[in-house]
Amino acid sequence: MSAIVAIVGRPNVGKSTFFNRLIQRREAIVDAVSGVTRDRHYGKSDWNGKEFSLIDTGGYVVGSDDIFEQEIDKQVELAIEEADAIIFMVDVESGVTGMDEDVSKLLRRVNKPVFLAVNKVDNAMRAEDAVEFYNLGLGDFYTLSSINGSGSGELLDAIVKVLPEVEEEESNLPRFAVVGRPNAGKSSFINALIGEDRYIVTDIAGTTRDSIDTKYNRFGFEFNLVDTAGIRRKAKVKEDLEFYSVMRSVRAIEHSDVCLLLLDATRGFDGQVENIFWLAQRNNKGIVILVNKWDLVEDKETNTIKHYTDKIKKAIEPFTDVPILFISVLTKQRIFKAIETAVEVYNNRNIKIPTRKFNDTMLPIIENYPPPAYKGKFVKIKFCMQLPTPYPQFAFFCNLPQYVREPYKRYLENKLRENFNFSGVPISVFMRKK
Ligand code: GDP
Ligand code: GDP
Repeated sequence: MSAIVAIVGRPNVGKSTFFNRLIQRREAIVDAVSGVTRDRHYGKSDWNGKEFSLIDTGGYVVGSDDIFEQEIDKQVELAIEEADAIIFMVDVESGVTGMDEDVSKLLRRVNKPVFLAVNKVDNAMRAEDAVEFYNLGLGDFYTLSSINGSGSGELLDAIVKVLPEVEEEESNLPRFAVVGRPNAGKSSFINALIGEDRYIVTDIAGTTRDSIDTKYNRFGFEFNLVDTAGIRRKAKVKEDLEFYSVMRSVRAIEHSDVCLLLLDATRGFDGQVENIFWLAQRNNKGIVILVNKWDLVEDKETNTIKHYTDKIKKAIEPFTDVPILFISVLTKQRIFKAIETAVEVYNNRNIKIPTRKFNDTMLPIIENYPPPAYKGKFVKIKFCMQLPTPYPQFAFFCNLPQYVREPYKRYLENKLRENFNFSGVPISVFMRKK
């Protein structure tokens, strides 16, 4: 879990250039491991050892140049509600625009840290032009060039200084987050779980101002439900924007151990649902897919569930070892099963395989089908172990780790999944030099 920094500003000021500069290095590593495409507007970064999540809110707003003022307002409002710090980016080339003034008006009222970043200051002459941004009434500003990187260090120094310290979660109960597109039935699902107050044990203040963990004792299970501002308390802006639900998902996912990804059966597992799925996967969270509103699907022949399941699995390749349940919040069908499955996934995510047992299982499999020779060289894997990380990661020690290609790592992952139960849990396989 990390603090969230949001970048706001009108189109073309350089938000995504800056965003890419900050996340590129890290994401490149993550991509190499997971081999999946990523959401371009959300990523992790760190500065001086402090990790934070970065969101380019502009990436979620439709219509680039001819953007409606109203969209900008929503973008800013969201950042205000969800982020721990806000970077307001403006462009020295165009100077102060009316839209910048409007955004400033919103930001002046906020009591979260706002950093005015004057971008495209590629040289000293432009630094002088930047002074006009004092007129925005936001106080001091930082000048930077997202293209050549100058100035970004000072800005980041200042930002990480104000980010809240994120403590380790204290509770060792499973932490579940209910995520999905607007109207998937998330609030209904949560209400079905918590509708009766007697199941609520306590409200624990979350690690950040905006989140509340609520402890439940239901169906014989104890768990914390991660609630971000507004899932229950319906937000003042209706969750009509895709962007809105993505922001909420980001926060909920980061707080959780297992994500219950709800989708509307009548709408299917579309690109937006898929984005949320990969967000959870990339954060190494457990995942249970809940196809909700199954009561609305009329043609329920024996094959309907199978076809639906196959379609989802196709979309989430290669990470297909994920439970998929067909539920109805309305009729309470399989709600219990959903929680039960989430608890199982939670337990799978916490499996610690003893090193001896792991080697006894994996080494014969490797011997049977060793990594293919590469450039005439043979790779010998001698030893393997689960790493002592909060979610399952595995290291295979060998003479030439750089020669082991992605397909073989995937083979190892598949064998791992065949021999141990990691259903619903993203796992990482690393080759290390021995
Ligand atoms: P966004 O719409 O705010 O995300 O803006 P983009 O990141 O897409 O940038 C818009 C344009 O400004 C692109 O052509 C960038 O190459 C350019 N740009 C971004 N940062 C800088 C910079 O620091 N200096 C200069 N000269 N151009 C920049
Ligand atoms: P959220 O935006 O994801 O929180 O979705 P809501 O919980 O507000 O639900 C959106 C709509 O779907 C509401 O009208 C719900 O009554 C309806 N809904 C939720 N679950 C089901 C279900 O299982 N079956 C049917 N038929 N409708 C449902």
